[in-house]
Amino acid sequence: MENKKGVLKKSVICGIIVCLILLTGWLLKGDGLTKHAIELTQLKNNIHRQMMGYIIKTENDKVIVIDGGTTEDAQNLERNIMELGGKVDGWFLTHVHDDHVGAFTQIVANTEIEINHIYVSLNEKQWYQTYEPERAEFSNQFIELLEREELKEKVKQVKLNEKIKIDGIKVEVLGVKNPEITENAGNEQSMVVKFQLGETSLLILGDTGEKSSEKLLMTQREKLKSDIVQVSHHGQAGATKELYEQIRPTTCLWPTPDYLWNNDNGTGENTGTWKTFETRGWMEELEVKEHLIEKDGDITIQLK
Ligand SMILES: [Zn+2]
Repeated sequence: MENKKGVLKKSVICGIIVCLILLTGWLLKGDGLTKHAIELTQLKNNIHRQMMGYIIKTENDKVIVIDGGTTEDAQNLERNIMELGGKVDGWFLTHVHDDHVGAFTQIVANTEIEINHIYVSLNEKQWYQTYEPERAEFSNQFIELLEREELKEKVKQVKLNEKIKIDGIKVEVLGVKNPEITENAGNEQSMVVKFQLGETSLLILGDTGEKSSEKLLMTQREKLKSDIVQVSHHGQAGATKELYEQIRPTTCLWPTPDYLWNNDNGTGENTGTWKTFETRGWMEELEVKEHLIEKDGDITIQLK
């Protein structure tokens, strides 16, 4: 009897040791409980045009995309998503302009990339036809694409102050479409979203203009402070100085190609009519420490 008990005891101990060895190996390989750093990538422009695209990789390797750029930027975006596993858990599209959602339309139509949720804030087609007729053909096509059978279940019209959680990342919608703003109409419909990436907050402004800046200051003043801001409208003639003063960022993401950064119309620095130098001056006054600029290529930073 004693002997049998002894054998059983030894077997249990051996079993536990084997389990511990296997568990240690699994953890060391990084497949287990080890979480990765959150990464934020600003995508480069691939043609001589402004665009905007960001990718967030979460601690457990989930993927969030914000806009993505023009149709000509689709290939670079696709490559980046494929390197992260080829699946997008949440895709935020700030507004219907093709320098933001063009790449998305290509990826949906031409690739195997799987998308779980698509977050938008859109007016009816007629609104775009009325207030931005010169771009109505594109906005029509875009809205019809989202209405397709294979996509419509994934599309979610976000609500003001809605909170979304994606793998530990808290997302809060601070701004939605503003149909009452009909000047600079398309840009002023930009969704404004705040992401809490670990200890770092990121504010995405899209192409927010003056009127929606005022609205944000009136309605969301206390929530605007953010560590990182995406500079609105590619760094020129977008959000107001007062809005940035409230955000008080330490890092700026500039979706700004070289010609815009330098205000260069092709004949040298500061020969254009863009307002980029004015915005750059505001950020100097605010003592922003770090600038990530689209013209410098795909840039990835790790966040705590
Ligand atoms: Zn834009």
